[in-house]
Amino acid sequence: MNLLINHEQLLDSLTVGIIVFNDEFKIDYANQTSIKWLGLNVDPRTGNLINDPYWTIVDKHGSLLPVEEFPAVIVSRTKKPLFNYEIGVLNQTSHAYTWFLCNAYIAHNTENKADSYVVTFTNISTEKEVIPFKEIVSNANDAVIVSLAINTKGQGPEIVYVNQAFQRLTGYTNEEVIGKTPAILSGEKTSPITTKRIMDRLSQSLPVRAEVINYRKDGTPYWVDLNIVPLKNNKGVVTHFASIERDITAIKDNTLNLEKLAKTDTLTEVYNRRGLLEHGTLAINSSYQTNRSFIVAMMDIDHFKSINDSFGHDVGDVVLKGLADLLKENLRARDIVARVGGEEFVIILEGEPPPILIKKIEYLRQVIEESAFSLNLEMDFKLTCSFGLVLSDLTDRSMNELIKLADKALYQSKINGRNQVSVYSHY
Ligand code: GH3
Ligand code: MG
Ligand code: MG
Repeated sequence: MNLLINHEQLLDSLTVGIIVFNDEFKIDYANQTSIKWLGLNVDPRTGNLINDPYWTIVDKHGSLLPVEEFPAVIVSRTKKPLFNYEIGVLNQTSHAYTWFLCNAYIAHNTENKADSYVVTFTNISTEKEVIPFKEIVSNANDAVIVSLAINTKGQGPEIVYVNQAFQRLTGYTNEEVIGKTPAILSGEKTSPITTKRIMDRLSQSLPVRAEVINYRKDGTPYWVDLNIVPLKNNKGVVTHFASIERDITAIKDNTLNLEKLAKTDTLTEVYNRRGLLEHGTLAINSSYQTNRSFIVAMMDIDHFKSINDSFGHDVGDVVLKGLADLLKENLRARDIVARVGGEEFVIILEGEPPPILIKKIEYLRQVIEESAFSLNLEMDFKLTCSFGLVLSDLTDRSMNELIKLADKALYQSKINGRNQVSVYSHY
């Protein structure tokens, strides 16, 4: 039986796309399936089939496929057939991908004319799980910045992508940051040490996590917890860095406040016992290490009970606050003052020879004695304080030991008549 087959009809009915390109990679033939799947159009001027300009060809990872890597072009270059080559076609209007496995080969013409390239397309979209990563990143709550890994401009990596959360967080638009470097977010309080650590890690292609202060377009600072990951291409070369940044300003402010609160006396706003133990220990350890002398002084208000008894506890509190202010006014910022009991204060001075430090304490005693503590416009009264102090010696003593010794000296001042300074002398 002589079976007559209409080849064109047969090709059109296949669920495989077939395109034949000429030696200039123009489309000579396309079956109906490929016209539908690839969105081919007829060029109204020439009548030839052309690619829809809104379709983009990508590799299996979703990166733009250069023309040299198109199946027909590979076959023409290698002169070998190509099997199971995966590509995606992105319709930029609908943002949808269609995924294909391509085979391609050279069709030699009999009359030795120029070659053609036959490319077949099997649609594998239903088998391929496509996660819309771009959309997820674009809509994420955390700011995302992608920059080039190569330092083309010599001033840090060039930003190539920011998501919407970045624009909300920083106040910069897309156009204002693309092509710039993340350095535009740094400012006065950005830690140079942290910045260097980040640069060191990235230069070794290692991920890095850090908390840094950045600045918005309007100059307001904010804290971010950033997580930077190097991104590799399919050859394993790091091409980009992706930084995922979470705004932690609120948490940070809260933590800093809580830390401060835990170490501060609420009435007088000087350190409490806990603040003294932390900051006092740091100060005396640094003095021990650098061989600088220091003194620890204990101060107690004389007959404070009678002030409370005469004017009431509230007035006593006002006096305590006024006294702390007086101490701060007459000391340097680096000197340490703490309220360690009801009406007992500890003062640590360092960096000068002991006789000068003792004189400073004697000066404080005098200032207090000469000050008038006013309760209201009509009435003010005088008070005095007793001091006991201990000098640094060659043995490393703990903060608590030093306070105990200063307290012993204070007791001497009290029994010797109050309003005086005693130095502990029996080590
Ligand atoms: P001296 O130290 O000279 O021996 O006599 P003093 O009356 O000051 O005695 P002491 O040092 O024992 O002082 C304890 C008194 O300090 C008890 C209380 O009336 C007062 N006081 C302690 N803490 C506070 C406080 O937080 N607020 C007020 N208003 N008074 C306090
Ligand atoms: Mg006391
Ligand atoms: Mg007292």
